[in-house]
Amino acid sequence: MATQTKDYYSTLGVKKTASADDIRKAFRKLARKYHPDVNPNDKKAEEKFKEISEANDVLSDEKKRKIYDQLGFYSDNIDPAAAEAAARGGYGGGGRQQPGGRGGQEVPFDFGGFDFSDFQAGGRGRGAPQEPASGGFGGSFRDIFGGMFSGGNKSRGPRAGTDLEYQVSVDFWSAVRGGVARLEIQRQETCPSCKGKSTTGGSSECPECHGTGQVTQMGGRMKFNIQCPRCNGTGKVQNGCPACDGEGVVAKREPLEFRIKAGTRDGQRIRLAGKGNAGTDGGAAGDLYLIIKVGTHPVFTRVGDDIHVTVPITVAEAALGAKIEVPTIDTHSDANHAGGGRTQLKIPPGTQAGQRLRLREKGVPSASREGMRGDEIVEVKIVVPKVQDERSKEILRELAKLNPEDPRADLLAEV
Ligand SMILES: [Zn+2]
Ligand SMILES: [Zn+2]
Repeated sequence: MATQTKDYYSTLGVKKTASADDIRKAFRKLARKYHPDVNPNDKKAEEKFKEISEANDVLSDEKKRKIYDQLGFYSDNIDPAAAEAAARGGYGGGGRQQPGGRGGQEVPFDFGGFDFSDFQAGGRGRGAPQEPASGGFGGSFRDIFGGMFSGGNKSRGPRAGTDLEYQVSVDFWSAVRGGVARLEIQRQETCPSCKGKSTTGGSSECPECHGTGQVTQMGGRMKFNIQCPRCNGTGKVQNGCPACDGEGVVAKREPLEFRIKAGTRDGQRIRLAGKGNAGTDGGAAGDLYLIIKVGTHPVFTRVGDDIHVTVPITVAEAALGAKIEVPTIDTHSDANHAGGGRTQLKIPPGTQAGQRLRLREKGVPSASREGMRGDEIVEVKIVVPKVQDERSKEILRELAKLNPEDPRADLLAEV
């Protein structure tokens, strides 16, 4: 009866001390990797996805996680107060018999359903009847329950749908000015045949207990009659919906269209509530998260809401100052021109290479602060003329004579 206890922490690859956020992140990362949508017809991935989902189900719920931490396993049948008591080293269940000798490992479970009358020789001979002696349970007590709970008992009732996450590429201009993005997503949708109930409404004899509602389990030298976990003692199982294989949901590809706000940034997450996977049996649908990947532009670079652009100027413009035209993200005066526009920028006399000039409120409109706009930062690049003719060379030599200052004087003085 060696049932392996499941280590949910190692399943998710997190430490026992992991925060709720760590757990959520670890699960999301793994879920993205093993999600059946990403691995169609891959049984191993499907199995793995079930494992991480089960681990996440328990560890992401504060109450369930506490019970799991206290007992090493989790079941809905466990009363949190009893788990607390068990963790403290005593089983405080109103005068009931205790499975002794396993200090701190008792399982807070309703023992009323066990048939102790069927003890085999050893247990009864040595201890009082009806009292499980220390040796009787051996080391397997907790293992039995561990196995029992994680066995075929597929818990029913409302289950919330999982969240979905998609990356959406948006071109530079749509992100700056706003627009509409389209993509196709695959999501779990409520099964139209059973309306998410997973069953057809009919029932048949439980194959596990053959309709008796009870099954026998061996634990060491003992035999228990316990409530059949498959049918919860009813002796009947609901007929699974054939349309969804009893899952309550079916996979569906869906085209999706959504608005991109002007000023949307790269890496921004957009949440569409209730657009994730459908829940089952009345459970709420998950959310859909869209991660925006903004495309680049050959001239403009976005830094938050600011636009950076490098503009070449001549030596004469830099030295004498000038009024030049620079590109902006504003709409071009010619309405048929799809890209940006242009504006006048004053270059002050004596402008140096690499100097940055700011055009206030010529940047990207803020997606979060109404009416606000970033700036455009123009970095000046000085283009040196490739002089060929003697006359130009003469003028430059003359210029050097008239301005004899050494541009490296400060640099060399520092060394
Ligand atoms: Zn169905
Ligand atoms: Zn049954």
